[in-house]
Amino acid sequence: MVTKSLYQEVILDHNRKPRNYGKLDYASHHAVGHNPLCGDRLDITLQLENDQINNIAFEGESCAICKASASMMTAAVKGRSRLDAEILIHEFRELATGKLDIDHPHHLGRLTIFSGIRDLPTRVKCAILPWHTLQAALNSIDNASTENNDSAQAVSSKL
Ligand code: ZN
Repeated sequence: MVTKSLYQEVILDHNRKPRNYGKLDYASHHAVGHNPLCGDRLDITLQLENDQINNIAFEGESCAICKASASMMTAAVKGRSRLDAEILIHEFRELATGKLDIDHPHHLGRLTIFSGIRDLPTRVKCAILPWHTLQAALNSIDNASTENNDSAQAVSSKL
């Protein structure tokens, strides 16, 4: 059970001290994500070596939910394999849209604080944007938008 105060505390913490904030000097993959409904814009750079995410960073202008989600996402996938990251992307998307049964085994850990977002339809895209942008970066798609899902859907159907 996720309490409202825990949710607020985690969102605030990641906005005060965003993890992996900035831009990598050397990045093998890069994508810019845009959520026109809220005005969120994210720039994600990452370094993929032997199918492992050695380093990842994000920067941009976004609301608190988007920034916290991006910060937690970078912490969750850094050092993980590309496959692990793709599983997390899939699970987070299911969580945020209310399709994931969090009582069944999953890999989201503390990211489940976003489970309440499904009741806030206008904020779902804010929370998903960083994951959507990560997926675009991993697939070498430079631009991702929550309002143009053609490329992302082609990718997610492979999961
Ligand atoms: Zn937003």
